[in-house]
Amino acid sequence: MSNPSILILPGDGIGPEVMAQVTRIIDWFGDKRDLKFDVETDLVGGAAYDKHGVPLSDETMARAMEVDAVLLGAVGGPKYDNLDFSVKPERGLLRLRKEMDLFSNLRPAQCFDALADFSSLKKDIVSGLDIMIVRELTSGVYFGEPRGIHKEGNERVGVNTQRYTESEIARVARSAFELARKRSNKVCSMEKANVMESGILWRDVVQEIHDAEYPDVELSHMYADNGAMQLVRAPKQFDVIVTDNLFGDVLSDCAAMLTGSLGMLPSASLGLPNAEGRPKALYEPVHGSAPDITGQGKANPIACILSFAMALRYSFDEGEEATRLEKAVEKVLADGVRTADLMGPDGGTPVSTTEMGDVILAALDASL
Ligand code: NAD
Repeated sequence: MSNPSILILPGDGIGPEVMAQVTRIIDWFGDKRDLKFDVETDLVGGAAYDKHGVPLSDETMARAMEVDAVLLGAVGGPKYDNLDFSVKPERGLLRLRKEMDLFSNLRPAQCFDALADFSSLKKDIVSGLDIMIVRELTSGVYFGEPRGIHKEGNERVGVNTQRYTESEIARVARSAFELARKRSNKVCSMEKANVMESGILWRDVVQEIHDAEYPDVELSHMYADNGAMQLVRAPKQFDVIVTDNLFGDVLSDCAAMLTGSLGMLPSASLGLPNAEGRPKALYEPVHGSAPDITGQGKANPIACILSFAMALRYSFDEGEEATRLEKAVEKVLADGVRTADLMGPDGGTPVSTTEMGDVILAALDASL
């Protein structure tokens, strides 16, 4: 049996800095837990453009299709701002998402107790929060036709079309139910069935998939506007939320900010499972390449490290080891270790990116 394979694409800016800490953690699992991965590293974004003249080469794309999981750092930076749209660094990421058909975007909103003061909400509302937003990523109003701006009489009209097929709804619903089974077994589906036909279909199909395949999972439905209110009123009522591309875009950003810093937020984008049940998968921090702090050792590697924890859980079925890693992160935060982005008004001395990696590795050692 060969080891599971990972393609690492560090990308630009702080991407390589935070990914260096993830690489150390991958090595730790190989050495200390006998959990070995075949890891290869390649270029994406501006780094790929500099070498190949494109933000993702065909060879790298082909490898991404073959491996069990892709880990990406971040892409972009001021150096590439004036490039033609077709070769901008972000196009590399979009190509990966499109060709891997990553229709299910997972954005956890998890609040570590030690960071509860960073939230804009009251501490007791967010402390211990652990929810997952599943956003449909490849269809809906961002892709529907007809679209465009045209003239009607004397004025311009902007048109976008919200369009979902049953199979598009069914596959993201399945992805949410599968996730719920690995968590607290509860799904809340959000749409606007009160005013949108696509919302009526969404609600029907999610219910049908539930009744036929996942009756053991608790399912509820909520209008997305109420969902937004509930997310800031009482977010702990949710476990998994599944919703379409547009509502998911807004609700996942809202939920993410319940928990504080951008340097803490992981994500996963999943496609269809292969014969072994392993989905095509891309894991990446939510943050960008942070050109303002690049090369200064200030970047917080935790978002990228937690993205790897998601890979352990959702690609490699190593939920216990994922929890071990998340607990190690929680421990260092509880001990007061902070990178610069997590410093409160009382000050203190921030640790560097590498030092944060050091203490997380020490916490992993202590977990054995
Ligand atoms: P950004 O996320 O890079 O940075 C926003 C702010 O958060 C900055 O002040 C930055 O220093 C800080 N920050 C971000 N990540 C951090 C971390 N891990 N530790 C500490 N501080 C952190 O967003 P931006 O400044 O709007 O964009 C910069 C570049 O990144 C642009 O070229 C943009 O297109 C690109 N971008 C890429 C992605 C991606 O690769 N998925 C996402 C967003 C932006």
